[in-house]
Amino acid sequence: MKKYYARHLEATPQWAVFRAKTPSATITAYTSGKVLFQGNAPETEVKKWAEAGTTSGKQTKKSVQHNYNPPPDFLTSNHIGSDESGTGDYFGPVTTCAVYVKEEQIELLKEMGIQDSKAITDDNIELLSTALIEMEIPYSLMILHNEKYNHLQQQGWSQGKMKAMLHDACLKNVQQKIAGAPSEGMLIDQFCQPEIYIRHLGTENRRLDAQTYFMTKAEHYSIAVAAASVLARASFLREMDRLSDWINVPLRKGASKQVDQLIAEIIRKHGRDVLPNIAKVHFANTKKADKFL
Ligand code: MN
Repeated sequence: MKKYYARHLEATPQWAVFRAKTPSATITAYTSGKVLFQGNAPETEVKKWAEAGTTSGKQTKKSVQHNYNPPPDFLTSNHIGSDESGTGDYFGPVTTCAVYVKEEQIELLKEMGIQDSKAITDDNIELLSTALIEMEIPYSLMILHNEKYNHLQQQGWSQGKMKAMLHDACLKNVQQKIAGAPSEGMLIDQFCQPEIYIRHLGTENRRLDAQTYFMTKAEHYSIAVAAASVLARASFLREMDRLSDWINVPLRKGASKQVDQLIAEIIRKHGRDVLPNIAKVHFANTKKADKFL
């Protein structure tokens, strides 16, 4: 982090590793390992580290609550929910999905075992995904393949922006599909502060629809988001199988050290040029794989 803020460093206070000041925040890192973000828009800086998967616990003094919580009764009414999969995995695409659920389907979906996809085994994900599709539940699924992902990343798109555009596209597709059907609105499984999501949309001349809401861990509360998480996950797993067949190596999920070793194995077999077709090459894993070559 100190390296990252090298151009913004200020005098280091006692017990601190460094202090940096950016236009949006003052960042103080302590020897205890805690990092404090203060200032007029600390979430801008917090987000950079949250996306990198390095945050833990309380790090911001300013409250990160927002005004985009769904209204009372929303979760038990007709609504659309969206979620994504594959964002933390080195190999494979990012998949997103939005699903429309009718009030009278909520109980049935719960009984079927629709829940947060992270709580379901890969085999059951496939079964539940098939069941949802057979129910003809309105949904929209999008796959951001690695070639396109890497291209956008090189154009300066953050993963957050990619996710925002994908969620937006899926939600709007479902809205069109169900035109006229009753809906209390759309719930997004929150992956960044709503203001940042809205800013991402704005950079591509899109706007947030009225009745769009955000909740963290929304798949635990909304059956529509849970169903979207299942369909997105099933699609990600199928893509991983397809890519594994294509390269003739079983690809690993996640971004662990074993992934680093696997990258090295793939480079030895097929060369580096194959990576943009199967992986999110900006992940630190690409460099870490060099140790195993
Ligand atoms: Mn999610």
